Amino acid sequence: MAYQPTNDCMICERIRWIKEGKNPYFVRELSTGYVVIGDHQRFRGYSLFLCKQHAQELHFLEPEFRARFLYEMSVVAEAVYRAFQPDKLNYELLGVGRGLHMHWHIFPRREGDMPVPGPVWLLGDALFSEEFLPSPKELEDLKEQLNAQLEKLLA
Ligand SMILES: [Zn+2]
Repeated sequence: MAYQPTNDCMICERIRWIKEGKNPYFVRELSTGYVVIGDHQRFRGYSLFLCKQHAQELHFLEPEFRARFLYEMSVVAEAVYRAFQPDKLNYELLGVGRGLHMHWHIFPRREGDMPVPGPVWLLGDALFSEEFLPSPKELEDLKEQLNAQLEKLLA
């Protein structure tokens, strides 16, 4: 299940940082992917699940890996739900870079968390404002809370 690193795939690059112990957002490795906290926390608890394979679509994955990837994503989502207690989770499977390496975005949503109800992307660049970068302490708290719930669910 080795991924194919490419110089211009942001997800492969993030995974490489995890393997080198240099990704401060890394929470936990599962069999099909890596759990990380989102860089920007406009939606507190925003987390991602990065597919271990540099693949574009779910149906490009081997059936067994695909089923496990989907199941593990649902476990990650449940851990996000338990850790951050949103009203609802938003799930999105997006791609980025060459080959569009798929990765799940999991957003905890809360009543009234947008100026106008709708998907988070309506915020545009405001989603990535520096004011939403967690402090080192906040980041450690987020990782610890999420990992504690993953620990329970995976036990
Ligand atoms: Zn990749």
